[in-house]
Amino acid sequence: MTAKLMDGNALSRAIKAQIKTDVADFAGQRGYAPVLAALRVGDDDASAGYARAIGKNCRSVGVEFRETALPDGATQAEAEAALRALDADTSVHGIMILEPLPPQIDHDALVLSLDPAKDVDGVHPLNAGRLQQQRPPFFVPATPAGGIRLLEEAGVNFRGSHAVMVGRSDIVGKPMALLMLHRHCTVTLAHSRTQDLPAVCRSADILCVAVGRAEMVKGDWVKPGATVVDFGTNYTGDGLKGDCDQASVAQVAALLTPVPGGTGPMTNAMLMSNVLEAAKQAAIGQSRQ
Ligand code: NDP
Repeated sequence: MTAKLMDGNALSRAIKAQIKTDVADFAGQRGYAPVLAALRVGDDDASAGYARAIGKNCRSVGVEFRETALPDGATQAEAEAALRALDADTSVHGIMILEPLPPQIDHDALVLSLDPAKDVDGVHPLNAGRLQQQRPPFFVPATPAGGIRLLEEAGVNFRGSHAVMVGRSDIVGKPMALLMLHRHCTVTLAHSRTQDLPAVCRSADILCVAVGRAEMVKGDWVKPGATVVDFGTNYTGDGLKGDCDQASVAQVAALLTPVPGGTGPMTNAMLMSNVLEAAKQAAIGQSRQ
């Protein structure tokens, strides 16, 4: 079998084209564009590069991007104050905290200073809890939101299917597991202490992998005819690699997200969708005042 590829480039282009139209409509009606602000601390190259990429993503759909960059020695109190200033700024609709942060900054504590209504990354515990309990409004983190959109677009059957999510991070694994549970999959959430991981993976109708280990999942870990979502983004000497050995997995799976061109571009599209939604919600709130 050679798996059919779930094309994240094509789907994200279509979603972003619609978002661009919706953003233009929003700006035409309200007189301002949606605004995404990013807080960055220190001069780490990765977070600076991430900020540039987000800015480019925003410009591609007409969203305004603003960056607050604090110096490397900034304190927790200064970072929290910067976040609260963005919370209070009614011209800002979405806020992201860019990682990595310097060691003196406690990310989990910092997140608590973020207004949940502007938390377009879905990292605030209130959004995570609302997602878990399916009590809107909440923001779904962009990467699992994109993974689910790819599966939906491919017409994958969720109801009663066994979904295995390998990786339990708050930003990818746990929310993806919940999104599949809410679509009536029977979900197994696997991690580094899971015993006989290959056998657990082989039991999956839908196998999703977000571990950060290049090409860990091999073809013989996959049930013939399964659907495989590879969230892995690993920069190796041999180029960008997923968490799945794409060549051998493609021989066994029926559907597979390629790397690159699968879940990565979908993350960009879903983030922009969250920013537009945050701006719309803020506008409704202001009209009600
Ligand atoms: P984290 O490091 O936060 O989490 C990794 C998870 O993988 C942990 O739950 C860990 O288990 C588990 N894990 C690690 N090693 C193994 C192993 N040998 N066997 C089984 N489980 C293991 O990573 P993220 O969730 O942030 O990211 C995961 C991957 O997804 C990375 O490649 C990242 O680059 C990519 N990513 C891609 C995005 C996209 O847009 N496509 C966006 C965000 C991330 P434990 O909890 O037990 O430690």
